[in-house]
Amino acid sequence: MYNTQRVIQTVNGVSYEIAVTRKKVKRMTLRIDRQGKPCLSVPEHVTREQIEDFLRSCSGWIAEHSGCRTFFSLPERLRDADEVMILGEKRRISIVRGAKASLSLRDEIPVLSVRDPEDPAGAAAAYEKTLKELALDVFRKRLELYADVIPERYGLPEIRVRKMTSRWGSASRKTGEIHLSLYLIKAPLDCIDSVVLHEAVHFTYMDHSEKFYEKLLARMPDYRQRSRKLKEYAGH
Ligand SMILES: [Zn+2]
Repeated sequence: MYNTQRVIQTVNGVSYEIAVTRKKVKRMTLRIDRQGKPCLSVPEHVTREQIEDFLRSCSGWIAEHSGCRTFFSLPERLRDADEVMILGEKRRISIVRGAKASLSLRDEIPVLSVRDPEDPAGAAAAYEKTLKELALDVFRKRLELYADVIPERYGLPEIRVRKMTSRWGSASRKTGEIHLSLYLIKAPLDCIDSVVLHEAVHFTYMDHSEKFYEKLLARMPDYRQRSRKLKEYAGH
């Protein structure tokens, strides 16, 4: 089994988690994996310093290839005025002191309240937790708008938000749940709606048959354009 370790490399204030794997190879090779994360293969004998030097020399490449790659990640550290992506917009976050972690959008500006605004790792953790709550709230409201496509016997599905990277969502008639990717909250609202509606239509048709798309397109004629836009946003 290969020995993989994670290294955090910061390029222009953006942190990237890089999976470093020691292998029987002659030289260090950097690539982007399917999830869009940078991966580095290194010969077994190289030192941590050599790895860090190499990553520094590739920082331009990492930044260039991860404009869209960072879509499926959240900041590892967060400081006041850092840029975050919410609902399709890059916004500068305002971090304030508060007894309980909370996140709200005030006049389009995300305001994160944390116990210690000077702790970037703590702020990032609080951001992830509260972003999940915000996402859940937004996704629920959007589902209510499209609930008319769901057969009455299922009621309004429960939404669960997880850090999914391989797909945007899934639906289960059995559990009455719709699972959505947390990263979807980074996309514009019209893209979010296309995913929410897609999953809602699965309560009628489980597959991606012609009938499924017929029902979907009847409710959202520009569904395909929105899907394409979402792909462009996320970079895949
Ligand atoms: Zn589907």
